[in-house]
Amino acid sequence: MSTEKWQTVLCFWCREPRGDRSIAEPGDDRLEVIRDYRPCFHCMGLRSEGIFIAEVASEPGSPGQPSLQEGTPNANVTDAGTEVQSPPVYPTGNWLIFDPDGLRSVFPDEIADIAEAQHQLLFHEELYRLYFPPQLFQEVEAERLADETGGVN
Ligand SMILES: [Zn+2]
Repeated sequence: MSTEKWQTVLCFWCREPRGDRSIAEPGDDRLEVIRDYRPCFHCMGLRSEGIFIAEVASEPGSPGQPSLQEGTPNANVTDAGTEVQSPPVYPTGNWLIFDPDGLRSVFPDEIADIAEAQHQLLFHEELYRLYFPPQLFQEVEAERLADETGGVN
């Protein structure tokens, strides 16, 4: 006889079921959980199409949030343009896929170099918002809606 309860594991990045399940800890009644930062197949597919850029924070977004694991390529850049061993970072859940062809028109060479080598960048919050202000996404969304409805301006 088993009293084990199963939980559906969600992808951290898109919050959709990842396709695996885990056994709930005693007393944990949640039906869905996020276990780690491994992307689902859908998110992996998106990442293969461009440069994955994720926003990270120096502090956990919620108590107990794990940091991105050691061994994750870390694209932090110093003023001197060199890569450094950096302290733990915590993804905020904001991310995007960047067109590799546009890298050098948007980023300085030291960032573009790392992006091309690692196919991903981790941006601390200030830098992420500098390059990708929330307002930008609202404009993109507005354009998309206008296209869909055939609206002009
Ligand atoms: Zn996903």
